Amino acid sequence: MKSLLTFPKGGIHPPEFKTQTQGLGIEIMPVPDELELILGQHIGAPCQPTVGKREEIGEGALIGEVKKGLGVPLHAPVAGKIKDIGNSVHPVRVSAPSITLTVNREAAAVRYERQAWQNLDAAELLTRVHDGGIIGIGGAGFPTHVKLKPPANSPVDTLILNGAECEPYITADHRAMLEYSAEIVEGAKIILKILGIKECHIGIENNKPDAILAMTKAAEPSSPDASVKIRTLQVKYPQGSEKQLIQAITGRKVPAMALPSAVGVVVQNVATAKAIYDAVVLRKPLYEKVITVAGKGIGRPANLLVKIGTKLKDIVDYLGGLQPGLSKIVFGGPMMGFAVSSLEVPVTKTTSAVLFLTKDEIDTKPHSQCIRCGWCLDACPMGLEPKEIGLHVEAGRSEVTEPFGVFECFECGSCAYVCPAKRPLVQFVRLAKMKAKRPQ
Ligand code: SF4
Ligand code: SF4
Repeated sequence: MKSLLTFPKGGIHPPEFKTQTQGLGIEIMPVPDELELILGQHIGAPCQPTVGKREEIGEGALIGEVKKGLGVPLHAPVAGKIKDIGNSVHPVRVSAPSITLTVNREAAAVRYERQAWQNLDAAELLTRVHDGGIIGIGGAGFPTHVKLKPPANSPVDTLILNGAECEPYITADHRAMLEYSAEIVEGAKIILKILGIKECHIGIENNKPDAILAMTKAAEPSSPDASVKIRTLQVKYPQGSEKQLIQAITGRKVPAMALPSAVGVVVQNVATAKAIYDAVVLRKPLYEKVITVAGKGIGRPANLLVKIGTKLKDIVDYLGGLQPGLSKIVFGGPMMGFAVSSLEVPVTKTTSAVLFLTKDEIDTKPHSQCIRCGWCLDACPMGLEPKEIGLHVEAGRSEVTEPFGVFECFECGSCAYVCPAKRPLVQFVRLAKMKAKRPQ
């Protein structure tokens, strides 16, 4: 049997916990009475509101834009009235500027018609991607129109779509690959045209055989302009991180502190490819997304299509309420996600999952001293030295951690996962990043 693709160094095999939701089709959540739209949902400058209080707006209307600097516009997920322009609880920061929209239940839903895109040039396609408010919705939130314009001195020859979905619990991309396979492949072809290249690989972990089959069917046949190939990956965390995925599929190693374009590759998430399809083919802006809601602490786990701005409390009500023993709510997966403490937090464009975890689903043992076992070094996919970073941070010497790779760390949590002393190695790295000097 052909060996499955993977990255060569480190990695871990945490329990997958995907059975709760992997068989559940994408369910459209009814729109709640009110949405809270955070103005800064992407990397870059936050949007400035383009609407005023009490203004009536239609579904898909522009409500925020970035006039200066890096960013993408923000759109209304439904028709409604601007109730307030103020602040919202934010998933990471304490609060953030936002627009509160009261939903107009009388308004008819917009019908989006398919439009031809094949005759548009790359610049026009990029404009549609920007105008649709598209960002990397797999997690990072970087504006996609910028990522699809790599620097002229780094010619790109390969597009990789990330369908690995290696984080435990999360099945949103899995379901999207089953239910939107044709749209994802068409999104890939649009990206190929923008980049002026012909080769796309879609990497999917081997624990999603139905998605591999569906995507393989959707990708056939290849044309002279676009070859889209499905590449089966070994199940190993963090298989879906950019550098590891590139190395698994192309064998190319992205140098330290460099971007994927340095080795001729652009990586996009499969969900972002679907969003690009929506923006270019349907002219539908990004204002809804599929998220996984799972964990023993929620009444009914699901893969939900929700409007951006839907608050956690509305999701909880829709899915049967919180369950006894709930201990932690996590935005994202258990490895790279972050705990939130309020049900007022709204879903943003980068939310991929919300986990309601009970006491028996999380590890609450206190951490102890490093026993210098070296397991964290073996687990790190970047070949870094998390042990040393942790020891220096504890000793108040964060500023000397750069040689141990602190700025190359993408906080995957593999080191902390294997540490027998339960040391908070990712938190140590975050602290070190604040004080260490970034290499020029
Ligand atoms: S969190 Fe950072 S140091 Fe730890 S394994 Fe991941 S990349 Fe390596
Ligand atoms: S795994 Fe934990 S205990 Fe072992 S060397 Fe790394 S930090 Fe120390």
